[in-house]
Amino acid sequence: MTEILATTEEREADLLAPYAFPSRKTAGRKFFEKESPYRGPFQRDRDRIVHSSAFRRLSGKMQVFTGDRGDYHRTRLTHTQEVASIARTIGRALRLNEDLIEALALFHDIGHPPFGHAGEDALHECLAAEGGFSHNRFALTLAEELEIRYPGFSGLNLTREVLAGQETRADKSAAYSAGQLAPLLEVQVVEAADSMTYDAHDTDDAVKLGLVSLDELADVPLVREALAAVRDRYGFQPVDIERKCVVHELIDRQVVDLIQTAVIFFRDQQGLTDETIRQLPFRIGPSVALAKPKRELEAFLYEKVYRHPQLLAVRKMAQDQLRSMFEYFCKNPHSLPERFRQRIEVVGLPRTAGDYLAGMTDRFCNAQYDRYFG
Ligand code: MG
Repeated sequence: MTEILATTEEREADLLAPYAFPSRKTAGRKFFEKESPYRGPFQRDRDRIVHSSAFRRLSGKMQVFTGDRGDYHRTRLTHTQEVASIARTIGRALRLNEDLIEALALFHDIGHPPFGHAGEDALHECLAAEGGFSHNRFALTLAEELEIRYPGFSGLNLTREVLAGQETRADKSAAYSAGQLAPLLEVQVVEAADSMTYDAHDTDDAVKLGLVSLDELADVPLVREALAAVRDRYGFQPVDIERKCVVHELIDRQVVDLIQTAVIFFRDQQGLTDETIRQLPFRIGPSVALAKPKRELEAFLYEKVYRHPQLLAVRKMAQDQLRSMFEYFCKNPHSLPERFRQRIEVVGLPRTAGDYLAGMTDRFCNAQYDRYFG
C-alpha cells in the first residue's frame, strides 16, 4: 500500500516551503483523537467546519446586502468560498500549507450574526456590560461549545492551530503588533485574502445593485487603473461586462502583488523556518505601492456603499429587531430553546440570549421577530 498511498507527511515533505507550517507539527486537539489514515489534521478540520450547522447557516446570512434586491450579490457563504479560493491560490503559489489555509478560510466568518456588521454592532451594544460581542470570538464559542456533533464532548475539537489562527482575528492589534510573535504565514494569507476578496466583490455588488456607477468608482485610482487595463485589452465593452472584468482585474492585481512581494522577501532570506519567519517583522500583505490605493478603495466603499442611505435603512431595521429580541429573551428566558436555557447557568442570561440571536440566519431572525412582535 505504501507505494500507492502517500501520507500527509510525505506529501508535505515534497510540496511545502521550509517556512510553511507542516501538519506533523500540529499541537493536536483538546480531546485526544486517533489520527486519520488518509486525511491530515487540517483536512479533518476543514471537513468538520463544512459539516457544522454554523457553516450551513452562512448561506442565510448577508455579507453587505440583504436579499430584498435579487440574488446576485454575495452571501456570507459565497464570500467565505471566495476567500478560501483566493487564499488557496496564494498558499499554493507560496508553497504554504494549503489544508491549513483552507480550514482557516472556511472558518473565518462562521461566527457572523444575522445582518452582517449591523447585527454585530447591535449585539455588541446589548452585551456591553458583559464585555461586548465579536463575530471573530463567537466563531470560537461555536467551535468549542455550541456545535454538538460528537458524543463525549462539546464543540468540533478543531486543532489548536486553527483555533489560535482565529484567536488572532479576535484580537488583531495584539497578534500583529511589533515585537510580537507573528501569526503563522497561513493565518496571514487568509487575513490578506479576506480583505482583497471583499474589496473586489463589494465593488461588484455595489455597481450591480446600482448604489454607485463604475464611472463614480473610477475616481478611485485602483479602479481607474483596472478599468483602463480592461479597456486597453478588450476595447470598450457593455457596462455589465466591464464591471465583471474590473472585478477580475482587482483580484488579479492584488493577488499577483501580494505573491511577488512575498517572493522578493523570501528570496533574500536564507534558512528560514516556520518558526524563525514569525520572529521577523515581515507580514504577508500588499506591497507599499498597492497599500495606499487599496486603502483609498476601502475608504470609498465605506463612504459611498456601506453608508449608503439604502443600507443605513436596513441597518436600522436589523438593529431594532435584534435589540427588541434581546430584551424580550432577557425578560422571557423560558422562550429560549431548551439547550440555550441550560446554558444560562454557565454563561448567564444576557450572553445566552446574545449567543442564541447570533446563531440565527437573517430569515430566521425576521421570522422570530414577526412571531414575537409582528
Ligand atoms: Mg470575511
